[in-house]
Amino acid sequence: MSAFDTVIRLVYLAAATCFVLGLHLMNSPVTARRGNLLSAAGMVGGVVAAATVLVRAQSVSMTARIVLAAGAAFGAGLGLLAARRVKMTAMPQLVSLFNAVGGGAAALVGVHDFVRSGALSAQVSIPLAVDVLIGAVTLAGSLIASGKLQGWIPGRPILVSGGRATTVALVVATLTAAVLLGAGFGGTATLAVLALGALAFGVVMVLPIGGADMPVVISLLNAFTGTAVAMAGFVIGNTVLITAGALVGASGAILTRLMADAMNRSIGAIIVGGFGTGDSATPVAAGPDARIRSLSADDAAIQLAYAAKVAVVPGYGLAAAQAQHELAELAELLESRGVEVSYAVHPVAGRMPGHMNVLLAEAGVPYGQLKEMDQINPEFGQVDVALVVGANDVTNPAARRPGTAISGMPILDVDRAKSVIVIKRSMGHGYAGIDNELYTDPKTGMYFADAKKALTGLTAAVKVLVG
Ligand code: NDP
Repeated sequence: MSAFDTVIRLVYLAAATCFVLGLHLMNSPVTARRGNLLSAAGMVGGVVAAATVLVRAQSVSMTARIVLAAGAAFGAGLGLLAARRVKMTAMPQLVSLFNAVGGGAAALVGVHDFVRSGALSAQVSIPLAVDVLIGAVTLAGSLIASGKLQGWIPGRPILVSGGRATTVALVVATLTAAVLLGAGFGGTATLAVLALGALAFGVVMVLPIGGADMPVVISLLNAFTGTAVAMAGFVIGNTVLITAGALVGASGAILTRLMADAMNRSIGAIIVGGFGTGDSATPVAAGPDARIRSLSADDAAIQLAYAAKVAVVPGYGLAAAQAQHELAELAELLESRGVEVSYAVHPVAGRMPGHMNVLLAEAGVPYGQLKEMDQINPEFGQVDVALVVGANDVTNPAARRPGTAISGMPILDVDRAKSVIVIKRSMGHGYAGIDNELYTDPKTGMYFADAKKALTGLTAAVKVLVG
């Protein structure tokens, strides 16, 4: 082995070490930022080393080098611009797009290797088939997921005509092509069936998913990206690609499992489109006399200032309004008056796993005040005021009944609190697109306003009240 090869291998080893340590640091919000930086440093090292190998390789023509350099510069520029320009609320769509790009790139590596080498060795054929299969599913599925999150495609479940029969036919054709290629049989036509079948499956897999299943599928697609990238690493014999992909695949799989358990969902049923397809038009059980009670800032301030126990329920609207700092300020004011404040965090609140944790950490909310669903639910009976800020689906009692888009999804038992204040701008729906009967509960008061304005108004009103 030449000195150059040794240096490259050492850089790959250092990069892999950075990924593992970075992932470990992400275990806690206190060290997560450092973990992110360390992982990014590892990634830069890996990319630079791989690029150096390519530039020095005799077999790479000048044209290919120019194409590579232009592609890398274009991709890096676009990624940097997107990450800097994108609003925090659009981050989930961006992450989904990155998943699509990762899966698509991995699939292209497989397709290119097949077209270039023609006959495949047994060592490469299996990872190549798995790479193209998972990469193409991820590319199409993540693009649909991103469109749903962005609102370009309706977030509700969309049923494909022919439904299950189409899915089964696609799965059979795609898996047959994958097995043939993996076993070393089949040519370009088989590869085309595999790639196109997997792309179509990605679409029909994600389109019918909505309501409570979307968070699980986003996390699943993330795990798929990692697996496809690891397979691409086997195809081209790149160890750092194998390590990085395996880490993303494994951590994504663990997260998917945790999310599915927390949401009372089965991963298998989600993939074949079994859940989350309830009738979103199902009327709520509010009854014809149901009334909405509107609150002013002063009304809400009185309730909060004289409460002993307040549970804040943050949701997507808090992120949309970027009102986390105003929320923390109000909570601090209440605490300075001896009110016990805690934050009830639902596993799928917001639009990406951990969305609320990131938001509240950004506002400096002490981690000890955050309570997970299982921890806070038994306590809601003793809560004087549940302050719901831009959360909707995660508080909707309709989840307890069959036949709705969120049926079976565990919710925060906000309706068991002694009183409820909901801050949102209108009677508009949440992600699942259904009415929320919490709003017509007699003990609920609605404070209609943008979360940032409402919280600033509330803080001012509490200050006036207590002098
Ligand atoms: P929801 O999407 O159910 O509701 C958010 C509410 O925020 C809306 O009803 C909206 O009402 C209100 N809102 C929007 N903007 C503002 C604003 N500026 N100020 C005040 N309120 C605002 O949010 P939840 O967090 O309760 O639930 C998350 C949903 O997203 C779940 O259905 C989940 O399954 C889904 N999901 C979650 C993902 C995840 O990984 N966490 C990924 C994909 C989907 P109004 O317009 O009246 O103001």
